[in-house]
Amino acid sequence: MNTDLLPLSYINQYAYCPRRFWYMHVEGEMIENAHVARGVASHERVHTEGYATLAAGVVARRSVQVYSHTLGVSGICDLVEEATDGTLTPIEYKQGKRGRWSNDQAQLCAQALCLEEMTGRSVPRGFLFYFGDRRREEVIFTPELRALTADLIQAMQRTVALGEIPPHTTQRARCNGCSLYDVCLPQEMARYCESAKGGER
Ligand code: SF4
Repeated sequence: MNTDLLPLSYINQYAYCPRRFWYMHVEGEMIENAHVARGVASHERVHTEGYATLAAGVVARRSVQVYSHTLGVSGICDLVEEATDGTLTPIEYKQGKRGRWSNDQAQLCAQALCLEEMTGRSVPRGFLFYFGDRRREEVIFTPELRALTADLIQAMQRTVALGEIPPHTTQRARCNGCSLYDVCLPQEMARYCESAKGGER
């Protein structure tokens, strides 16, 4: 496996905050908070029976390793269902409820693009399962979602190549639930920058 391939699960992190992606991918930071712990517990439950709803004849494969050398990503699908006609459907399990952002959809779409490259079959749709509301949401891999996914991956690659930590997110509400808050210190850094500016006057 090419180690230069970016982990596709970090598409989600990058879409949330590029600085968070940097900490996790480049600096290897992973601090467990309640949100992360719930996510790990949810993913562990995926590997018990009962979370896949299968029609007759559908084969379910769990923890499927996927990659795309074209896109430069690799990762693991929680579940891939194969229908009797050979259609592949990736399913990703998430803790919490569906959010307003399309980062979950982009991560799932990256899995589909990998499956397409690996198998030569088209993968038209997938599902996101949210433990918070126990809902399975269909995601159609439209040309727009495919383009957004490719754009996010290219932005991640540019960030790594640039070699500089991205600035704090301007959407500060996201910092409140971020497990890397104590590493990143967004408020303290903002105050420090303000006082440094004041000292220059
Ligand atoms: S604390 Fe805020 S700026 Fe820092 S990594 Fe987390 S979301 Fe990004």
